[in-house]
Amino acid sequence: MKKLRFATLWLDGCSGCHMSLLDLDQRLLDLADMVDFVYSPLVDVKIFPEGVDVACVEGAVSSAEDEEKLRMVRRRTGLLIALGDCAVTGNIPAMRNVLGGQKILQGVYLEREHLNAQIPASHLPALNEHALPLHRFVPVDFFIPGCPPSADTLFAALGALVAGRAVDLPALTRFGA
Ligand code: SF4
Repeated sequence: MKKLRFATLWLDGCSGCHMSLLDLDQRLLDLADMVDFVYSPLVDVKIFPEGVDVACVEGAVSSAEDEEKLRMVRRRTGLLIALGDCAVTGNIPAMRNVLGGQKILQGVYLEREHLNAQIPASHLPALNEHALPLHRFVPVDFFIPGCPPSADTLFAALGALVAGRAVDLPALTRFGA
């Protein structure tokens, strides 16, 4: 059987959803039998490749860089999965939305800093006014909610995707369903 080309990445998230992936423990070997990890923090690949079958994206979109990366991933990927509550709803990163990006930057870098107070202007992507979930920017095929989704949920969801049974799973919600 041809293996799925599988990718994972995070945008504005805490990496906790990827820790759930690591919590698969020995089941990672089962997953590795079903998919090729072509891009992920778990493997040493620097450039997101073309022709990815399934990509799991953790985290909200909080900067122009996040948005650009997400749009590139969408163009190069068959099935895009929003992995975890930050990707699905905005969750923790979106808690700052009541203040807005500019006020957060001002509070962190100017008001609470007494040495060289300045908002970074280089080497850091500009923060958007609001942190938003993935589907506000690109079509998303599946959501896997949870903060983080458990390893069991991930394994069931990914196993079902590989087997073409995703619609049977309550842990997965097809966009627009
Ligand atoms: Fe972290 Fe929870 Fe967001 Fe996942 S959903 S990136 S665990 S805060």
